[in-house]
Amino acid sequence: MEKVAYFDYCAFILTIIIFASIFFRKMTHGKINRYFLITVLVSFLTIIFDIWAITLDNLPNPNVEVKYIVHSSYLFFHSLTIPVYIAYLVAMTDTWHKLRTNIIHAILLPLPLIIIVILLIINALTQNVFYLNENYMYCRGKLFPLVYVAGFMYAIYGVSYICYYKKLFKTSRFWALMSIFMLVLFATIFQMIYPKYPVEMFATSVGLLFIAILIQRPEEHIDVITGLHKLTGYTADIKRGFANGKHIHIILINIANFNSIRDMLGFDETNTLLHRLAIKFADLNKKNKLNADLYYLDKGRFRFVIDSDYANNIEEIASIINEALKPGINIKHMDINLIAHICIGRCPEDFSDYESLMYFGERFSIDNEYTGEVVYAKDLFKKEQFDLHNNLDSIIENAITNRKFQVYYQPIYSIKEKRFNSAEALLRLIDDDYGFIPPDVFIPAAEKSGAIHKIGAYVLDEVCQFIASDDFNKLNIDYIEINLSVAQCMHKGLPKLVLDTLERYHVSPDKINLEITETAASYSQNIMAENIETLNASGISFSLDDYGTGYSNIQRVSTLPLKIVKLDRTFVNVEDNPKMFIVLENTIKMLKDMEMEIVAEGIETEHLVKKFSDMKCEYIQGYYFSKPIPKNDFIAFITMQNKNK
Ligand code: C2E
Ligand code: MG
Ligand code: MG
Repeated sequence: MEKVAYFDYCAFILTIIIFASIFFRKMTHGKINRYFLITVLVSFLTIIFDIWAITLDNLPNPNVEVKYIVHSSYLFFHSLTIPVYIAYLVAMTDTWHKLRTNIIHAILLPLPLIIIVILLIINALTQNVFYLNENYMYCRGKLFPLVYVAGFMYAIYGVSYICYYKKLFKTSRFWALMSIFMLVLFATIFQMIYPKYPVEMFATSVGLLFIAILIQRPEEHIDVITGLHKLTGYTADIKRGFANGKHIHIILINIANFNSIRDMLGFDETNTLLHRLAIKFADLNKKNKLNADLYYLDKGRFRFVIDSDYANNIEEIASIINEALKPGINIKHMDINLIAHICIGRCPEDFSDYESLMYFGERFSIDNEYTGEVVYAKDLFKKEQFDLHNNLDSIIENAITNRKFQVYYQPIYSIKEKRFNSAEALLRLIDDDYGFIPPDVFIPAAEKSGAIHKIGAYVLDEVCQFIASDDFNKLNIDYIEINLSVAQCMHKGLPKLVLDTLERYHVSPDKINLEITETAASYSQNIMAENIETLNASGISFSLDDYGTGYSNIQRVSTLPLKIVKLDRTFVNVEDNPKMFIVLENTIKMLKDMEMEIVAEGIETEHLVKKFSDMKCEYIQGYYFSKPIPKNDFIAFITMQNKNK
């Protein structure tokens, strides 16, 4: 029976295409890429030997020794295909450390392959796997089925491996990885029925093509500017490491002056700088045989990630990196000085999860002074702070259920009326374990987790209940200001929540005033504009909080129905900066021309009270008059003030 090699020719072409895509896309670095390349290479050699063997089988008088060696080589590479593919799967799941430490795996896994290789080596004597008969025709020996048994065992192992780590893959990736096994299974059955058509290697190369298209995609993981893995890759790798209980060391490098460098150099030259830094790091990695995976996250943040087993000389190498960065870098004849904070961290010893690592990675160069030395994560962070950060979601949930949040009130003074005419409601959280937790910490966390909606509803409820009380009526306070966070502003249910609460306590809408922040106001979100319009139409007025802190989208701000603008504390404290004082004066003038009322926030001195009175601001809020205080203290404070008048 003559075999037809057409399918192998197709497989040959497909594999060449895969090779081309690997080299054109420069996907030869990194463990995963390397194992994929080896898998493609092994299947390529199998195809070549298969074609060669078929050609020799079909020749009337081939060289017998060559024919024997070609068949042996084919069987060898054929048996190697699935094991190297499994090695690729292990690299994908980053689970080498697990295989290494599990003796049963470490011994049993290579065993079938070793047996086949031994059988092939001694086959010249035993003729058990295959032999060339008296007509020099290729014939299967009695142990030949073992080649298939071994292949089958590896296939089952491979399928189980993918299924076991299923949660690490997206569905499309999962099926792409599985496709090889399914295709080969089909091909083997087909080949059993039609032995004339050897389609197995064709099936394998189609499977590899799927993987090349669906999984080996550099654009998903490689940063185009630096050529290093990017944030998405870092996220995926670190999360996988935590899920697998892998121990890793990370050298965190944050260029603290990255923003000023970018402002100075512009985008193009900054990219050149990043590219040069990446080359420098890759060089240091190679020269020092560190074997780290390199990442560029963003904003001048680089990471070296190393398997803890190979991290013995990490301190030394971090110091080498530090020294290499100290002289700065010359771009376009300018010596650019780099303030590079370098820190060594360990997972899971220093960071119990991905979130805390990311939080630390962003903060450590901001919260700590630059020392010029390599530092250790364990020395930097105050454990309580990180525990607090890690537990914040549950602390908030617990505070909601056990009603531990308290609303404090900070009086606001009207310059014109010479009395406290309003107050701002400010939330307080005192936890049994962590003590006072500032709103600047728990509000952003609650926004992220979604708990802000419950918290917002609680504040609204408390304030309306207070306004409806007799105590409040006696105070002669016109309205209470309530803070809204961005997430609340963009929530469809906001108007209903506010109006329902007012109705429940029979509170008139002019008794409250909602504060939105400048960031919220500059979002061009329809829902938010609709919410504000609806509430405004129902008689509720709005203030713009924290004016002067961020990016002011004046056009946007001017289209919103805002009654009051609150100048931020940092904007107000400009005493020692004459230029900023001019900005402040003119801002106030502009806002007054726009017919807005102004609250100066964070006023702590008599001098500033006078200054803002002179500038004709309507209201003053700050420690000079009072800190935010509990409801009863607030009632006492206002009663006292009114009495003194
Ligand atoms: P904010 O709305 O700008 O509140 C003013 C902040 O300035 C308050 O900080 C207040 O205690 C502080 N402050 C007032 N006068 C002075 C002063 O003279 N000197 C100094 N150094 N500080 C002064 P607090 O209470 O820590 O609140 C921080 C932020 O948390 C608030 O900024 C607000 O954005 C947010 N927040 C507070 N309560 C709530 C709430 O119920 N809901 C929402 N969404 N956010 C809230
Ligand atoms: Mg406020
Ligand atoms: Mg404010």
